[in-house]
Amino acid sequence: MRAFVLGTGSTGNALLVEAEGVRIMVDAGIGPRNAAARLAALGLELAPGSLDGIVATHEHGDHFGGVEKIARAFGAPIYLHPGIPAQRVRKRFAVRDYAIGRSFRIGSLEIETAHVPHDAPQVAVRVASKDHAIGVATDIGRPTRALASLLSGCDAALLEANHCPELLAFGPYPTRLKHRVSGGWGHLSNPQAAELAGRLVGSRLGRIFLGHLSRSNNTPERALETVAAAARGIEVSVLPHGSVCALNLLDIRRKNPYQMTLKFD
Ligand SMILES: [Zn+2]
Ligand SMILES: [Zn+2]
Repeated sequence: MRAFVLGTGSTGNALLVEAEGVRIMVDAGIGPRNAAARLAALGLELAPGSLDGIVATHEHGDHFGGVEKIARAFGAPIYLHPGIPAQRVRKRFAVRDYAIGRSFRIGSLEIETAHVPHDAPQVAVRVASKDHAIGVATDIGRPTRALASLLSGCDAALLEANHCPELLAFGPYPTRLKHRVSGGWGHLSNPQAAELAGRLVGSRLGRIFLGHLSRSNNTPERALETVAAAARGIEVSVLPHGSVCALNLLDIRRKNPYQMTLKFD
């Protein structure tokens, strides 16, 4: 299994997972031209017809904004749960609905989802091949038991560490937005990500990639330091805002898990 981070953070999220000849994208918050260029830079050619599905987690623009164009450009089916109304997309595409909490297959890959609190109906996703599983969990208001359970069955996970509470409190956001981010239906803070990581110690999870970092309210160093302290025995790496990189999941415990890291803004 290989995973390609094509963006993480408020400027656009997309993760391509490839295993057993099947390719799926979890979220498409960037357009097809960017997606193809970033993948090409990482050494993967994405031709029309070679993407087997786009699984959307929720309807926010940084995750959903490129869904239509990517589906059209690569001829990929769109998988939505009932909490994503997306009238326009449903009118124009033959959408495949999936039920939150019930696993389904795209080719030989098994997709599992768990509801997570956020200010739009939102899920965390587990993609599993015969041998490996990766979790994607961003845009999380607060840690939950269902989320910990989903991630405990993964080898590696992309986990949100959105903000440092102090930087958010004294940072540039207006008060209302500060409350939205930290109020239990927004985004996971570094200490909340650390708490979740602590619950996962001793599980199958061997590596955490921290992502969806805020540019204004966090630093890669703070995120890494806070989470790594709680994640005893789990390797923790940080993907700065706008990271584009290929993650090698075949040997998740090796020191440098990146095949290649590029920076786009
Ligand atoms: Zn987001
Ligand atoms: Zn969101």
